[in-house]
Amino acid sequence: MAKYIFVTGGVTSSLGKGIIAASLAKLLQARGFRVTIQKLDPYINVDPGTLNPYEHGECYVTEDGAETDLDLGHYERFLNIFTSQANNVTTGRIYQTVINRERAGDFLGKTVQVVPHITDEIKRRMVLLGESGNFDIVITEIGGTVGDIESLPFIEAVRQLQWQLPDDDVAVIHLTLIPYLRAAKELKTKPTQHSVKMLSETGVHPDIIVCRTEEPLNEDIKRKIALFCNVKTEAVIEAMDAATIYEVPMMMLRERLDVICMKKLGINVYPEPHLNAWKGFLDKLKFPKGRVTIGLIGKYIELQDAYKSILESFIHAGAMNEVTVKVVNVHSEYITDENVGEKLAGLDGLLVAPGFGVRGIDGKIVAVQYAREHDLPFFGICLGMQMAVIEFARNVLGLSEAHSTEMDANTPDPVIDMMEEQKKITVIGGTMRLGAYPCQIKEGSLAEEIYGATSVSERHRHRFEFNNEYLEDFEGNGMIASGVNPDTGLVEIMEIPGHPFFIGVQYHPELKSTVESPAPLFVHFVAAAKKYNEEKNATKQPLLQRELI
Ligand code: GLN
Repeated sequence: MAKYIFVTGGVTSSLGKGIIAASLAKLLQARGFRVTIQKLDPYINVDPGTLNPYEHGECYVTEDGAETDLDLGHYERFLNIFTSQANNVTTGRIYQTVINRERAGDFLGKTVQVVPHITDEIKRRMVLLGESGNFDIVITEIGGTVGDIESLPFIEAVRQLQWQLPDDDVAVIHLTLIPYLRAAKELKTKPTQHSVKMLSETGVHPDIIVCRTEEPLNEDIKRKIALFCNVKTEAVIEAMDAATIYEVPMMMLRERLDVICMKKLGINVYPEPHLNAWKGFLDKLKFPKGRVTIGLIGKYIELQDAYKSILESFIHAGAMNEVTVKVVNVHSEYITDENVGEKLAGLDGLLVAPGFGVRGIDGKIVAVQYAREHDLPFFGICLGMQMAVIEFARNVLGLSEAHSTEMDANTPDPVIDMMEEQKKITVIGGTMRLGAYPCQIKEGSLAEEIYGATSVSERHRHRFEFNNEYLEDFEGNGMIASGVNPDTGLVEIMEIPGHPFFIGVQYHPELKSTVESPAPLFVHFVAAAKKYNEEKNATKQPLLQRELI
């Protein structure tokens, strides 16, 4: 029988429930438990796949091709295990299931209602992973903030489970904010008291209160929160702002969040946590030996969450290379032929990001050309790879109007075209080429050197592909397809052998990068940037000395 931990949030959104849930999961995993995390999101979209990145940040894709909330990325990065569609459920999906069952006549003439039908479906999803027998502990993060109309059915489902399951099979953690009033120099507990009161009014009583705070909580404050919120003082956990999210598991270990949780779950015997790999990573992260600067060319750069997995992959790859990776955002809409040198000055590598639609495309193509012609390490992901193909077609193959049919349906040279099976599709949601596909890698290629293998699997999220009718022309002129799907022949990797590091991939390697297993493409890209940086400095050195003389 699995045990269940629920994480709710109060006072305000963006308190980092996902990171707290992932950190707790990491600690329990380090103590030998089989743990998974799921996220229940209260919005009506069936999945976040149809959401603009500005709305909800990046759409994370799992092995099985589910388009999910970006918190699942944190779960995988922390736990180093795969999640799946079952790990992310929205109100939309819950209602869709219930309504489909109603249409099928499953409810035998009954009136279908929020309680019990919607809450029953929520509960079924809450315990689904626990019943698979694969996990000892299932942590469920409830999206939104307590008091929101949308999250009510989820909170009600927690209430029912808290009552239906044995006492020591359920723990509820409530995450709140303790604001610090600078003028009064005081931490304030009132919003937390109100938020716990609101949660209690719905019938759910938290066992543990995790307090986000900018200032340390002293024992008095902890006692006060415990007294007003009806929990033990030891169950009031301080969660200070951290320099990096990867520090949070260690902070939660010091605060004994995992031990208090296990106590509530009736787990009294447990081993010491094995966190050597994690600590090793943290050491490298905290004490880098150098720094590289990578330009991230995208069109959603105002919102960092839009490129969450890419930014985290750079942190993992930086630690592997013992350098800090400084990511500089370059808005593709403002790059032109005239200013490209100035916009990309000082960079040690260029990453052209994934994306959709025509906005910002020209700037991306100009940036790729600059990297190709100036031997600047280049890494293109999905749309970034497609832009590298278009740039090469235009400027090397002389196909001046080459384009992707996504941007120009009438281009005479559709070097990037819609995949055959995509042409029949009329519905937008969940219909891209999604999830893990195999990729066969050419021997002797840069891709083979990077992966150290000739067969890999990576995750996808796109509708367009390299048009194989042009492959001969590309390969004859110096850009090769070094990775293809062995079943369909779809091009997965393009690279330029003569360039120090120029590679574009149709898939999303950032989705599989974890602390304990960083994505090889990022690790090698950062290594190439480090080399570029060292060479740049080596050529600068004599100059400087000459100037001194
Ligand atoms: N818009 C492109 C396509 O659909 C690229 C998608 C992406 O970058 N994820 O193929």
